[in-house]
Amino acid sequence: MPPPTTPTKPADIFAALSTLSISFPANCELITLPNKSAEPPGVDITCVRLHDDGTPPKDGFSVLVMGGIHAREMAPPDALLRLAQDLLDSFKNVTDITFGPLTAQVNQPSPAPPLAITYPSYTIPRDVVRMIIKNIDLYIFPCVNPDGRLFDILHPGFAGAGWRKNRRPNPDNPAPGAVGVDLNRNFDIAWDFARYYDMPSYRTKFTRPNDPASAVDTIETFNGFTDPARTVTVAGGATGGSFTLNFNGAATAPIAFGVPAATVQTRLRALATIGGSNVNVTGPDGGPYAVTFTGARAHPVPMLTADFALLTGGAGSNPHIEIRHAGPKTEPETLNVEWLIDTRKIRFFLDVHQFGRGILVPWGLEDNGTDQAMTFLQGSTWDWKRDGLQEADVLPPRTNYNEYMPNNIPYYLGDKLTEIANSMQNAIVLAAGADPKAAPGADPKLDHSTYKVVSSARSDAARGVGPLSGASDDYAFSRQFIDTSRVPMYSLTVETGEDEENGFHPDYTAPNNHYQKIEREIYAAVIAYATAAVRFCKWCLIATAAYGSRAHPDVEFLRALRDRELRSTRYGSRVVAILEPVYYSFSPAVARFLVPRRRCRLLVRAVIVRPVVVTLQALAAACKPVRPRRLAVGLLATAIVVLTLLPVAAVAWVLSGVV
Ligand SMILES: [Zn+2]
Repeated sequence: MPPPTTPTKPADIFAALSTLSISFPANCELITLPNKSAEPPGVDITCVRLHDDGTPPKDGFSVLVMGGIHAREMAPPDALLRLAQDLLDSFKNVTDITFGPLTAQVNQPSPAPPLAITYPSYTIPRDVVRMIIKNIDLYIFPCVNPDGRLFDILHPGFAGAGWRKNRRPNPDNPAPGAVGVDLNRNFDIAWDFARYYDMPSYRTKFTRPNDPASAVDTIETFNGFTDPARTVTVAGGATGGSFTLNFNGAATAPIAFGVPAATVQTRLRALATIGGSNVNVTGPDGGPYAVTFTGARAHPVPMLTADFALLTGGAGSNPHIEIRHAGPKTEPETLNVEWLIDTRKIRFFLDVHQFGRGILVPWGLEDNGTDQAMTFLQGSTWDWKRDGLQEADVLPPRTNYNEYMPNNIPYYLGDKLTEIANSMQNAIVLAAGADPKAAPGADPKLDHSTYKVVSSARSDAARGVGPLSGASDDYAFSRQFIDTSRVPMYSLTVETGEDEENGFHPDYTAPNNHYQKIEREIYAAVIAYATAAVRFCKWCLIATAAYGSRAHPDVEFLRALRDRELRSTRYGSRVVAILEPVYYSFSPAVARFLVPRRRCRLLVRAVIVRPVVVTLQALAAACKPVRPRRLAVGLLATAIVVLTLLPVAAVAWVLSGVV
């Protein structure tokens, strides 16, 4: 099937997914998400699961790749739909996925003409496709935000850059731009930025409109509509001055420090965006003020925010306004993604965006830190404390806040994420071929295929955007800390394309062929990501069979030992390279033998796997202060014993008739 020549409309994407499930019934499950889209009457939203074994695996080795959460980002939904089609075709017909040679053009600074770049043919071998479909459940969710995408297709260039949000109606604000919520700030992670962040600190570095909740906060509908009740508290040792409240794009007249609730009520009711008697304010003079929307505003309403630059206090004070809002995940499209991540126990999550040519590693809500105490898990302990700043930018007496990123045995989350991101970056460069204008070179201006690997919190720093709240990748990543049976969980964001490929709206046709270039990059990135997931789960088949789960901590430990300890030295990785094929030559048969024999599995678990894991854990701990090479040697010795004894023991059991 040739690539599209124009962006595919959402209804056609969903129709194509349905066709796939009918054409490939054994390998493609069509999933209708629980919520229709936000714009009445709402459309059904679907995705597919590519698989080789019918039912979803109970232990959740599932990979989710999604796109189109930001409406105007045209390329990812098309590329992900085509990828699903190509993978199923390749798997069923045992063929390679091939791209012919391509010439694409990128824009140059005016008045230079576009720069032509040639790409060689590009092949994804059938064996790689087979390995992916055989080993993992691959969920492909190409069009998360259909209302927004359709609006952008019908109104390209709305407000210049196009449409970003969903199409949730905004009954309180007639401005065309006030419709909708930025879905990628609506997830249940640090959602209420006005509470999670120390905004005075944050704004010393990042100025409006670049608040953590969106790049478009001048329309206060960005991260979700909420219940009609709020609490407004004057805090931080304020003793004078004034503040303003902002609702749905309008700001009140100044509200002096210490005024009665009735004054706050009068100021809010004077706003055209509230009006009449549609808000009540109660509470003591000076607050906290309880703000309740009512009458014509008695429905989910946009966020209330404050500007408190004119509040004053004594030396060392931090005068500010704290506003509590009701919950996140207000949007049906957000809920669909959360539902998929949680009910299908996704372990690998990739959100494909456009643009910025980057592979983004969590966290996005703050810079990564090593202090275990600084974590979103600590409930309200860190409310109004996240600063979005790096150490050198923090003004005394404040303390720099960083979000804890575990990077310890056995999962090494921080390193592993970067390792996976690097493998994706390499895959994209390799697929780009040898044209010096495509590959990385001495002149960065001639480098049009290098995706930078960068922390999500700093991904858009060049545009003055800091750490952000409520994003999909952070939400996915956070699940493992809330439900520890889902440790580890890997989550990344890819930003495809660039300004030089027409930004959000790439050209789909010759001679520019921006879309075709981006599509190849998305294929390369997703295949590399899925391959990392396969490698992750295809380890220790015997231990997996013995425990009946690839997610058991003992199995995880063995896997991490291979990837982190043995592979961390040249010596160790050579040993793994020699042992792996030997191990895989007999382990599938042993695993198949074990699966239906419960007593035998229990025996293997108790007599072999558990003691081996305990031994290796002790060894790993003891070797920690020792030089890596010696550690590898020590682990190697044990590994050899395990790898040789285990099959011998299994065979012995069979022969002796224990089972
Ligand atoms: Zn985006």
